[in-house]
Amino acid sequence: MPELPEVETVRRGLLKIATDRQIVGIDVLYGKTITNDVELFKEALIGQTINTVDRRGKYLLFRFSNQLTMVSHLRMEGKYFNLPESEVPRKHTHVVFHFNDQTKLCYNDTRKFGRMTLVKTGEEMQVAGLKTIGPEPTDTTLTVEYLVNIMAKSRREIKPFLLDQSKVAGLGNIYVDEVLWMSRINPLEPVNHLTTQQITKLRANIINELATATKHHGTTVHSYTTAFGDAGEFQNQLHAYGNAGKPCERCGTTMIKTKVAQRGTTYCPHCQVLGA
Ligand SMILES: [Zn+2]
Repeated sequence: MPELPEVETVRRGLLKIATDRQIVGIDVLYGKTITNDVELFKEALIGQTINTVDRRGKYLLFRFSNQLTMVSHLRMEGKYFNLPESEVPRKHTHVVFHFNDQTKLCYNDTRKFGRMTLVKTGEEMQVAGLKTIGPEPTDTTLTVEYLVNIMAKSRREIKPFLLDQSKVAGLGNIYVDEVLWMSRINPLEPVNHLTTQQITKLRANIINELATATKHHGTTVHSYTTAFGDAGEFQNQLHAYGNAGKPCERCGTTMIKTKVAQRGTTYCPHCQVLGA
């Protein structure tokens, strides 16, 4: 599933391939992708222009010229790419936005879990998922005080806690394993056991890791590509995810893969001791 760095990379690509062009037609080939009435969706957007694309957590926010916003979540495998009108869309293309410059923006999703919801601009935070979303993981929006406060009230294990988008926006399985390894925290550690010092370090690692991965256009595992069909480059800089059975880069102990909250989880049993 694309996490914050991958979604942000998609957003930056969309700014280049989808903005400032007028939509002259829309094909919806798989109706469930659109949570609105499909005919009303088309009617509302044909003739409009995508002014810009914003992001909140893992949600893309397409801002249209008529004060409408399309909230798009890629879920497992959603992708956007652009094609010249002369080219036939690839397999698993579910929505096509035709532009007035003889190009089209195609939404492709092999798993069909991705969704698009059109709302009035300003009402996007009422959409399910965004309504409860936690702070964006940046220096100004994710404060130590906030984390110390909510962690003190919860006995949940740190891994599911960080995967919960209502606590912190943007993290998924890969980057949670990475930041826990960097912070030397066991994925099963109850969050109310963490010290302010540990939380401070964890917060800094979350912010730095997501920013660095974004700089490298995200991580490519399975099928994620940028809006230009390129692979990300950050997979070469992962220390925990995908490293099970390999020596820990810090201490040489063999990295272990287990399941936490139904998710494959890789950690170092020496550096990330429970209750340390
Ligand atoms: Zn280690």
